[in-house]
Amino acid sequence: MFESGLRLRIPPSPTGSLHLGTARTALYNWLLAKRFKGVFVFRLEDTDRERSKSEFVTDIIEGFKWLGIDWNEGPLRQSEHKARHQMVVNQLLDKSLAYECFCSSEELEQIRIAQRALNKVEGYDNRHRNLTKEQKEAFRAEGRKPVIRFKLPNKAEIAWTDLVRGKMSVNASDLGGDPVIAKENGDVLYNFAVVVDDHDSAINCVIRGEDHLHNTAKQIPIYEAMEWEIPKFAHVPLILTANREKLSKRKHGDIASISNYIKAGYLPEAINNYLIAMSWQFPSDNNKEVFTKEEAFKYFDLKDLSKSAAIYDPLKLNWFCKEHFQRLSAEEVLARAKAGGFLELSNNLEEYSKEEQLQIISLMKDGLIKLSDLSNPASAASLLVFCQAPNLQDLNQEAKNCLQEPEAKLVLSELNNLLETSPDFSPEIVQKLLINLAEKTGLKKGKKLFWPIRVAVSGNVHGADLVSLLNILNKNRLQERVKATLQYLEI
Ligand code: GLU
Repeated sequence: MFESGLRLRIPPSPTGSLHLGTARTALYNWLLAKRFKGVFVFRLEDTDRERSKSEFVTDIIEGFKWLGIDWNEGPLRQSEHKARHQMVVNQLLDKSLAYECFCSSEELEQIRIAQRALNKVEGYDNRHRNLTKEQKEAFRAEGRKPVIRFKLPNKAEIAWTDLVRGKMSVNASDLGGDPVIAKENGDVLYNFAVVVDDHDSAINCVIRGEDHLHNTAKQIPIYEAMEWEIPKFAHVPLILTANREKLSKRKHGDIASISNYIKAGYLPEAINNYLIAMSWQFPSDNNKEVFTKEEAFKYFDLKDLSKSAAIYDPLKLNWFCKEHFQRLSAEEVLARAKAGGFLELSNNLEEYSKEEQLQIISLMKDGLIKLSDLSNPASAASLLVFCQAPNLQDLNQEAKNCLQEPEAKLVLSELNNLLETSPDFSPEIVQKLLINLAEKTGLKKGKKLFWPIRVAVSGNVHGADLVSLLNILNKNRLQERVKATLQYLEI
């Protein structure tokens, strides 16, 4: 289909941090580029001077790097192509395929009000398409400055074969009239600049979100007017929330931005997997859900993308996160946690040998969703249990109730006695200790026996495997925490 070689692009606007949807579109481009050995061009569409910020440029580049999305050309900057854009505007003007429009915003508003009253589609009514020289001069004499509009062709519909959605057509009358391509100050607008830049980069396949369908219908006639080859288009479904709202930073905050996932210590492989799997599945003979983007690209094709909206499902995301943590070795998790500064609250982890640290991570990692959980006291995968005694003054209700049971004191004082003569811990010693404790207290294994120990150790009735936990904590720490809890119970 792409004899001269596939050329793809991702052109985010640096007017905000990297959006999950843009990251997903970039991934689909990346997968296709890798599969068919295409060239992937990264362009920053920074022509909106007020809203484009260098901090967002950094955020977008870092986001792509974090996800492992690399590109072959760029980052190009649309703002550097100004002279070229101006040249094409002039060519269109010369060929009468574009024209000056002097309508004021009040006039445009009046047009809309009249259309609304007649229940017509709202938009510009192309009234300045054929102004005479004299009319233009009269407007100029009034001090008006024109915008440049592109003359949409007089055809009923604009059609193309979409690589995801199949045959597509948009009614020309739904496009809001001839689009503005350059503002009064000469700044060009997206629908025009994107065509020039995509053409100049020889892009032959445009993959983007389905919110651009109408834009595509505005862009195709510009290619035609310039007699440029029209690329293939592929519109991928948008990411929606469970109540079918478009996922937006303004409305849904942090979950829409890749930077949030970086900060929280998510695994990029989990985010990639989640984003790809939102609209694509491995071929059925190899139907696996957990995969890396390197595994996916060997099978990826646009025609297999789903046409229905992708729904952001936090539970599903967490599932992918856990799956990917399970795939990583303890060494790898520890290294990433350290490098990302996710162990700061667990400073005392340094008290443990490297081998013990790895045991700790092995014990906790399968419950991890993100690396910041390691230092979050509220998380079941928190490492704080290894680093500090629980705050007994601030226990949760379940833990408080547990310590109020009459057996709690019995369990802890018998444990305290047994610890006096216990040898240093090994998993076998801990196991024996718990069996002795069951005998001494007459309590069977279960809540009554284990929960008070868990609360004394971690402040929580739930947690990692008790034998492994106590073994790593070792005898001295356990003794200290049991004594502290007994003291607390005396008060
Ligand atoms: N700058 C546009 C955006 O971020 C690019 C859309 C396109 O791919 O053409 O939405």
